[in-house]
Amino acid sequence: SPALLWFRQDLRLADNPALHGVAERPVLPVWLLDDAAAGRWAPGGAARWWLRQSLAALGAGLAARGAPLLLARGRAEIVIPALAAAIGATEVHAGRLHEPWARERDHRVAEALEASGRRLALHTSAVLREPGEVMSGSGKPYAVYTPFAKSLAARGEPEAPLPAPARLRPVTAPPPGEALDSLGLYPVAGEPDWAAEFPTLWTPGEAGAQTRLARFLAGPVGAYATGRNDPGTEGTSGLSPHLHWGEISPRQVWHAVRQARPGPLTDSWPFLSEILWREFSYHLLWHRPEMPERALRPRYAAFPWQPDARLLRAWQRGRTGYPIVDAGMRQLWRHGWMHNRVRMIAASLLVKHLLQPWQAGAAWFWDTLVDADLAANSASWQWIAGSGTDAAPYFRVFNPVSQGEKFDPAGRYVRRYVPELARLPDRWVHRPWEAPEAVLREAGLALGRDYPRPVVDHATGRQRALAALATLRADA
Ligand code: FAD
Repeated sequence: SPALLWFRQDLRLADNPALHGVAERPVLPVWLLDDAAAGRWAPGGAARWWLRQSLAALGAGLAARGAPLLLARGRAEIVIPALAAAIGATEVHAGRLHEPWARERDHRVAEALEASGRRLALHTSAVLREPGEVMSGSGKPYAVYTPFAKSLAARGEPEAPLPAPARLRPVTAPPPGEALDSLGLYPVAGEPDWAAEFPTLWTPGEAGAQTRLARFLAGPVGAYATGRNDPGTEGTSGLSPHLHWGEISPRQVWHAVRQARPGPLTDSWPFLSEILWREFSYHLLWHRPEMPERALRPRYAAFPWQPDARLLRAWQRGRTGYPIVDAGMRQLWRHGWMHNRVRMIAASLLVKHLLQPWQAGAAWFWDTLVDADLAANSASWQWIAGSGTDAAPYFRVFNPVSQGEKFDPAGRYVRRYVPELARLPDRWVHRPWEAPEAVLREAGLALGRDYPRPVVDHATGRQRALAALATLRADA
């Protein structure tokens, strides 16, 4: 009998277990925009740009194989059972999602399908292992990364990826769908297109993901252990948005890396362990669904944040006066992405020096990152804020000047994104407020006019952060 194939965050044809399961049957592939169910975790602006391009690519791939993608909009528990009924499908296949809102929705969809004798079949697609499969010896979820990663690795290498089907059988009378343009994705007609530069960097879709992977394997992977910390060069894979939307699966990435570097696993571990950090964050989100909203460590619930719209705005706009942070925030705005090292420094400045709640930073990232991912974003912000289960201790306050000098010593990254500072000598590029007047004049820079002085001085910010921490009682 025909099957409904519901694409969500697995926008690919190769290594797609849900698709593989129905490839012999007449199939109706569908993608549904259901912002109401996602609520505040509906895709943000940058993600909506990505999604639109990615759906166009997926649609073309499916059409070429004979089963065009149907686009729909509305509440899943109504639309999905109605589509299944319309084509006479008894089964709906999809990749399993881990976001709390999506799990609740899947529950409702499964119930609605069961009421008419149908079923929702969920396949492992977004992760290497599902959360229930990796538990501690005492049957509990892991709260700390290292034992989690060891336990996962001890289960052996992931299974080989599945091939993409060469042909698909369409259903005989597919119901009408929506046009891609009518879904209200980005850019929005009549509004300025702030994503204008995105296409110069990103090619959403399965083919773009494979090209990105090949580029990484042909170069940066060899020096990843050190290159990953240099924001001024392309030292990382840039696969995060492709992985988020499932245009490539973690096990495809895993096996491609293993094939490209057939030596011992330890050679590839610096990179593969990042894939496991992603995995860890998905497992955490599954076991601790409150993670996007609330501190995982109870004592942090009482943290004395000092919300201040002006400070938050300065951070968002890349006008904190700390060059490495401002470069990162402007990279984010222009390119929808920020280097991991700089994400850490920028996030730390917001929650420590500026005492702004991590949720405010996470919300900005949610709207501006093309790789915005509820699991990775919430876990990373809680890690920085000290409130995560396996977090950097709050009292370790990054110094944005020495971090900049260590990881961007020649100021390449800063100069690219903060052109006001381009003509400062290396020595001052991370501390312009200390440069002698003559140097500033020579560089054509008037501090306070062209570029701000630091919103808060490092020593003061650090002291204030530690004083705030001291108000918390010990962990319960
Ligand atoms: P690579 O270094 O090439 O790593 C390969 C892959 O491993 C990445 O694509 C990503 O899927 C995964 N990965 C790497 N680091 C992490 C990590 N710390 N946690 C989880 N997965 C990781 N990553 C997101 O995908 N989405 C987010 O919304 C997100 N928000 C973040 C917020 C903060 C405050 C911080 C500090 C980090 C955040 N990260 C997030 C993690 C990390 O910064 C990005 O995954 C990484 O920069 C993406 O670039 P890349 O693909 O070149 O990474």
